[in-house]
Amino acid sequence: MDTVTEHSMAIYMALLGGLGVIHHNCSADEQAEMVRKVKRFENGFILDPVVISPSTTVGEAKALKEKWGFGGFPVTESGSLRSKLLGIVTSRDLQFHAELEDPVTAVMATDLVTASTGIELQEANNILRKSKKGKLPIVDEEGKLVSLLSRSDLMKNLHYPLASKLPQSKQLISAAAIGTRPEDKIRLQKLVDAGLDIVILDSSQGNSMYQIEMIKYIKETFPQIDVVGGNVVSREQAANLIAAGVDGLRIGMGSGSACITQEVMAVGRPQAAAVFNVTSFAARFGVPCIADGGIQNVGHIVKGLALGATTVMMGGLLAGTTESPGQYFVSREGQLVKAYRGMGSIDAMEDKKAGAGAKDSKASNAGTARYFSEGDRLLVAQGVSGSVLDRGSITKFVPYLMAGVQHSLQDIGVESLTQLREDVVAGKVRFELRTVSAQAEGNVHGLHSFDKKLYS
Ligand code: NAD
Ligand code: ATP
Ligand code: ATP
Repeated sequence: MDTVTEHSMAIYMALLGGLGVIHHNCSADEQAEMVRKVKRFENGFILDPVVISPSTTVGEAKALKEKWGFGGFPVTESGSLRSKLLGIVTSRDLQFHAELEDPVTAVMATDLVTASTGIELQEANNILRKSKKGKLPIVDEEGKLVSLLSRSDLMKNLHYPLASKLPQSKQLISAAAIGTRPEDKIRLQKLVDAGLDIVILDSSQGNSMYQIEMIKYIKETFPQIDVVGGNVVSREQAANLIAAGVDGLRIGMGSGSACITQEVMAVGRPQAAAVFNVTSFAARFGVPCIADGGIQNVGHIVKGLALGATTVMMGGLLAGTTESPGQYFVSREGQLVKAYRGMGSIDAMEDKKAGAGAKDSKASNAGTARYFSEGDRLLVAQGVSGSVLDRGSITKFVPYLMAGVQHSLQDIGVESLTQLREDVVAGKVRFELRTVSAQAEGNVHGLHSFDKKLYS
């Protein structure tokens, strides 16, 4: 979704052991650039630092500090990355220099502590710590600037032991969504060139001749790429996509938080029934499934996994985080919020139709024609557009979700997700239908007021 996953979400989800699927409501080049950022990301290193040239003035450097909010700029011969490093200018160098017209060469430090490219984060951090400097430029064998390490990032970037990486790879795994139009084949080529690992075919109803043809095309043309088909909610839909060669399936129709497909189209399925039916069928062919939509809390994740999903996909739950696209703004009620919208909302479709960028809050929308009613004068919405409360960073929120699932498995009495599945199949872990009064009983009740703080 264009209000949930761009490169920042994809990078941090991968660092935390998950995956973020980069949306395709933007041009193919923009989407490929985001994939490239995920693949190039090296934990802790700033790969596209703001760099200045020797002719930049002290006044300009001060203005840059105002603009970017940080004041450490490497100075290179050409004023760009991959050019010879000449010095470094930081807040301290600029602070007391009143001659604003002087070039930065008058104030920059030239006796530099640097490290060579290829250095591991841990070692680079040690150098930074010992040198007591604020910045560590990383240079190649010719002394050209490759990246930068900043002291303030030290604490944030120490260790991500669960990061989603292929064995023997230093790169994060990247995933992106495409549609099933002919131009999506050109888009996919660009994504593959950028290093894509997994492609998700994005449709509310995946069992179409277009998707089946696309699956076959991708498996023939890019056998190294994993293809996730969908969405599906029935065995019959799943059977056709499995026969076409998908590596995984995405389950859910109309259960997303910003989705009104069930209400307007009268099509869809309750998510638990969809997950159970499709996963029990797909398991016969060894095809893993993603439960997509309706995840509002830890309990929903556990239910999805217990019903057979290999993993879950979340949209609304991860919107409004530091890593989701867009700026925070203050709502009418005075709360900090971020925009969130369904991809079938009038907003998303109109942005798309106009080819207008939604740069202020989301990615630009100069992509391919792919909405069900795109060519029509009258747009029929399958989603809504709104906002969600600030949730802070996913670097706190995702560990909370993980710890919550672990506690749940402990209470259920299983040691692993594998055992959870086995015990469900063996009838040792059972589901019980909860009446409306049982559900009321299971929620907070009888309190005059309460705070529902979920983690600390
Ligand atoms: P879609 O791309 O599958 O379908 C759009 C329209 O394009 C359909 O009419 C389809 O038949 C047509 N089409 C697709 N490929 C074609 C081709 N090669 N030639 C000619 N026509 C072709 O997208 P969608 O189902 O409208 O979904 C739009 C977005 O909304 C997606 O991001 C989807 O995930 C989201 N959505 C999801 C749900 C859900 O419950 N999961 C519900 C509604 C919308
Ligand atoms: P200090 O806090 O030591 O005065 P500063 O104001 O220069 O230093 P930092 O705290 O080092 O800023 O960095 C703030 C954020 O800006 C960090 O997340 C860092 O990665 C980023 N950053 C710092 N310098 C650059 C740069 N030249 N280009 C891009 N990002 C940078
Ligand atoms: P503060 O003390 O508020 O954090 P600052 O952001 O300017 O200020 P540093 O980045 O540590 O702090 O810079 C202190 C001095 O060290 C500056 O003169 C700067 O040019 C210099 N300096 C920064 N990084 C290096 C480096 N890698 N090698 C050599 N000198 C450096």
